[in-house]
Amino acid sequence: MSLGKKRVAIIGLGTAGSMAAWRLASRGAEVVGYEQFGTGHDRSAHGGESRIFRTAYFEDPDYVPLLRTAKALWRQLEDETGADLLKLAGNLMLGDNTTEMANVSASIEKFGIDAALVPLNEARNRWPNHPFHEEDVVVLDREGGYVRPELAVLNASLRAKSLGAQLRTYTPVDGIETKNDGVWVSADGQSERYDHVVVTAGPWAAKLLPELAGLVDVRKAVSAWFVGKERRAFDPANFPCFIRTAPEEFYGLPAMDGNGLKLGLSGKVNRPVADPDALDRTVPLDEVRAFRELVAESFPSLHPDPVRVNAYMEGYTPDGHGILGRLGGNQRLTVVAGLSGHGFKLAPALGDIAADYALKGTSDKTIPLLNPDRFVTAPTSTANP
Ligand SMILES: Cc1cc2nc3c(=O)[nH]c(=O)nc-3n(C[C@H](O)[C@H](O)[C@H](O)COP(=O)(O)OP(=O)(O)OC[C@H]3O[C@@H](n4cnc5c(N)ncnc54)[C@H](O)[C@@H]3O)c2cc1C
Repeated sequence: MSLGKKRVAIIGLGTAGSMAAWRLASRGAEVVGYEQFGTGHDRSAHGGESRIFRTAYFEDPDYVPLLRTAKALWRQLEDETGADLLKLAGNLMLGDNTTEMANVSASIEKFGIDAALVPLNEARNRWPNHPFHEEDVVVLDREGGYVRPELAVLNASLRAKSLGAQLRTYTPVDGIETKNDGVWVSADGQSERYDHVVVTAGPWAAKLLPELAGLVDVRKAVSAWFVGKERRAFDPANFPCFIRTAPEEFYGLPAMDGNGLKLGLSGKVNRPVADPDALDRTVPLDEVRAFRELVAESFPSLHPDPVRVNAYMEGYTPDGHGILGRLGGNQRLTVVAGLSGHGFKLAPALGDIAADYALKGTSDKTIPLLNPDRFVTAPTSTANP
């Protein structure tokens, strides 16, 4: 071990893990990252080419400072890598008088977000291919848009490497044990000592940390892509990202490649996955039909048969907020898990906060909504130093 440098292992180099590797390596830690698949793979929570970024936040206005930290770090990662990762092409929040829309308004008022209520007739003129309802409240979040997930994970990982991180891909970790002299990580038949471990294993979190069983439920999430009848009608310049909260819940992102609009249904309809190692990536025909019906009814300017349908998965907590911080008082273990279907946009901020916990034992950037103590207060099964 080099003197003065903290030796930190990161388990899982997906969304949060790749960002934690970048932030920790930037801050001078000796970083070893473990990933069971390749860099920027699409087999877990971050596949599918695009993720919505939004700041007028329907989950809770308390996320706004974290979202702004994330935005600044997205820009920093773009500057350091030259990659285009975050495009603020706008996000439409749609609904009626739901709690979600009340949170959107509260976020805008409390934090002065660059957003505006758009009268329905104006919305129809501006976005003629969007299916608005008579009772819709339409909010344009100009601090919203989209992020490119695989590119982001790849670039954060490459940047971490260029800063000295050692990233071991195709190397599944099979055990973590806290002892008096450090925390030991086993993989490939060998065990290595670290000062601190950051667990960012996404849907696999509860497999590695039994304390999370029952707190992080894995669900399958399906994305479907549809081609517009008119070329370019669904390009980002003509069609912003959107989230509809009522009367039904679904969301969409514009065509990244000039062709396919991507749609997803509410996380509430996502089916449970008993074992993330055995995710069935086939999509049953009833699910394909549900998408087809939605498009046939709501988007007459799209061809209703999807040209691509893919299954991913995500960990959900009982209250829909992630888990970030020390788990059960273990000073050597930081966990980021259960990001509940809305964690990608926050990723660089989550990685930076995980780096704070690993290096300083605390963070002034996190928010109480993510505190693991709301679920886990007892000491962990592993011994504290
Ligand atoms: C279809 C879909 C759409 C979404 N849309 C949005 C959106 O629009 N906006 C948004 O902000 N969020 C969105 N989300 C949520 C967001 O993508 C997730 O919250 C985020 O990707 C979760 O990140 P993670 O780091 O927890 O997991 P992951 O990105 O899955 O990373 C976990 C990593 O750990 C690795 N791993 C696991 N176990 C081990 C082990 N034992 N050893 C080594 N490696 C291991 C895995 O292989 C994986 O690479 C969406 C999620 C899905 C599924």
